[in-house]
Amino acid sequence: MSKIKCLCGNVISNVSAPSNTDGWISGDVANEHSQEDFRNLVSALLQTVNEVERSKFLTKLFGELYPTDLHDSEVIDDIRDKVFSSRAKSVAECNKCGRIWIQLTAGGQDYASFAPDSGDECLGILKF
Ligand SMILES: [Zn+2]
Repeated sequence: MSKIKCLCGNVISNVSAPSNTDGWISGDVANEHSQEDFRNLVSALLQTVNEVERSKFLTKLFGELYPTDLHDSEVIDDIRDKVFSSRAKSVAECNKCGRIWIQLTAGGQDYASFAPDSGDECLGILKF
């Protein structure tokens, strides 16, 4: 999502990141699969025994353009992002009416909206 025109007329934009009006949502089953994939991929990364094997692993996972000289902590962050974002849907809150927009399919362009029943007390629901 880059911009959504809310039913109230407000335009929701996630051009700047991180944002207090954007987030991610996933169900229990999807989250469980993501956790299992994450554990398996991190384990596979840690089992590479030399730079050649590590480089092949990273290229297979992320493609030819992925830098192979990153620290393990950066690679683990990228593995987490790749695994969890593939099974999560983008969520955006309208900061004017509190309506929540949820992506219909992970990576898709279509969103469904859900309006709060309790009015202004819900504004900022994604903000911590
Ligand atoms: Zn709105």
